[in-house]
Amino acid sequence: MSLKKPGRFRNSLTFRLTLWYAGIFAASSFVAFFLFYTLITSVIQEKTDQELFSQAGQFSAVLRERGIGAVENFALFEAQAAGEKKVFFRLLYPTGQAVSSSNMAYWEDIAVRKEAIGQLLGGAGRVIETVILTTRKDQVRILYAMIGPGVILQVGQSMENYARIMDAFRGIFLATMALLIGLATGVGWFMARRAVSGVEAITRTAQGISGGTLEKRVPVKGRGDEIDQLAMTFNQMLDRIQSLVAEIRQMGDDIAHDLKSPLTRIRGMAEIALTTGKSLAEYEAMAASAIEECDRLLSIINTMLMISKTEAGVEKPSREKIDLASLVREACELFGTTAEDRGLTLSCDVPEGCVIAGDARMIQRLLSNLLDNAIKYTSAGGRVEVSLSQIEGWGATLTVKDTGGGISDVDLPRIFERFYRGDRSRSASGAGLGLSLARAIARAHGGDITVESRLREGSVFAVTLPASG
Ligand code: ADP
Repeated sequence: MSLKKPGRFRNSLTFRLTLWYAGIFAASSFVAFFLFYTLITSVIQEKTDQELFSQAGQFSAVLRERGIGAVENFALFEAQAAGEKKVFFRLLYPTGQAVSSSNMAYWEDIAVRKEAIGQLLGGAGRVIETVILTTRKDQVRILYAMIGPGVILQVGQSMENYARIMDAFRGIFLATMALLIGLATGVGWFMARRAVSGVEAITRTAQGISGGTLEKRVPVKGRGDEIDQLAMTFNQMLDRIQSLVAEIRQMGDDIAHDLKSPLTRIRGMAEIALTTGKSLAEYEAMAASAIEECDRLLSIINTMLMISKTEAGVEKPSREKIDLASLVREACELFGTTAEDRGLTLSCDVPEGCVIAGDARMIQRLLSNLLDNAIKYTSAGGRVEVSLSQIEGWGATLTVKDTGGGISDVDLPRIFERFYRGDRSRSASGAGLGLSLARAIARAHGGDITVESRLREGSVFAVTLPASG
């Protein structure tokens, strides 16, 4: 299955990240442009206004010093000097009627605004406004100022030059923007691809695995970023799944192996009974052996079921208050005879009363498995010591120590696995399920089992059980 079906492209993270990147870049550039544009426009306008004010000041001075005739000449002279298409001057009476003006051929559209004169007469020192000439699409900044008693100056300045600069600025900006947005889209795409490629690698590996290969792993780039962490977590999950699957396979093999021997024996017995003539007593003995084998099988199956249910949490331990001390004492008494028969000393060091919340039946099973092993794997003349100690505010620790043959370093890490039996223990009775069940019970109670052992010196199994479970 391909990751890049065209229909999915628009929904892809790469596409959306690129779009966001380009979009945010474009939006912020436009905001920056807008602010810059507004700033330039207001600076230009301010500069133009300053020029108009200073001209009004000069006119006022000429009027004061040399009279109205000189002002008229000054207007003509100033307009010619600056360019008659750039500035114009009009001298007005308070009625709005023109006294004189510079050459107004280019400025025919500009009228005298009565309201502006009204504002001046009402006390405003000067009135300034922008007029847009629709015929030429030109903007003119116009100042009305009272330059002497009964003399009003109307001066206008074309903004055409500035407008051209701003047009060029807009053009350059738009072209640069188009280029930069294209570049940003490319960079965004590249960055998004880099970020997403790690996720794609994980998806590809996951797809490969559903195809049946559990050995595949996602490559870790070693950058220590989130994608690396995801890849490492994914690989760790695969490790766990792989070992679980291997465990399940091994368990299947072990079950098949352990069930095969008793079934073969039962079949063999039945076959012999059918093919050879036997006495009634012999038939009865065979039937008894078959029942024994079946009981063994049933016990294995029941123990397996119990381990699975306890580990899966289906068989939850009841949480009654139980006196662990008396349970341990009872177990020691129960196994005392067996130990004695095998020539062992069984000692029991248990305090008075040690209450925990737990399942008495399950704890009994745990105790009997540990004691059974200690007695089974210790030869005559040896010792088995059981002790219980209370841990204040937490619970209790039970230890079962023996002076048996011990467990080899090869066997030690595996003895809690289902059906695992040490090589040297094959001759002893058992199915390799006792410790698995004991550990499942301890863990279901919120505790655990640990073991320390030395070959030819003995083993110590320690069970911790919290008081509250
Ligand atoms: P089983 O006793 O039926 O073989 P267990 O699950 O109880 O199965 O124990 C698994 C293995 O651990 C045993 O086969 C044995 O090799 C080892 N083992 C357990 N307890 C002891 C012990 N006290 N001393 C030596 N080996 C032990």
